[in-house]
Amino acid sequence: METPDYIICLECETPVYTFDWDGTRITEGICTSCGNEKATLFTTEEAYGEMMASDEHHYGSTGD
Ligand SMILES: [Zn+2]
Repeated sequence: METPDYIICLECETPVYTFDWDGTRITEGICTSCGNEKATLFTTEEAYGEMMASDEHHYGSTGD
């Protein structure tokens, strides 16, 4: 899996560009908005989009 352009902070739903990716998952992330530093509290844009798929509002869709 390619490194995502950014990840989403699940605490405040802000895109985060400062993170480490080990090839399959987020290993480290720092949210500058809320201070979240727990890797488990971030998700990829793709996974976030799937979470929001049932919602009318699609956030940050890139098409492909
Ligand atoms: Zn945050």
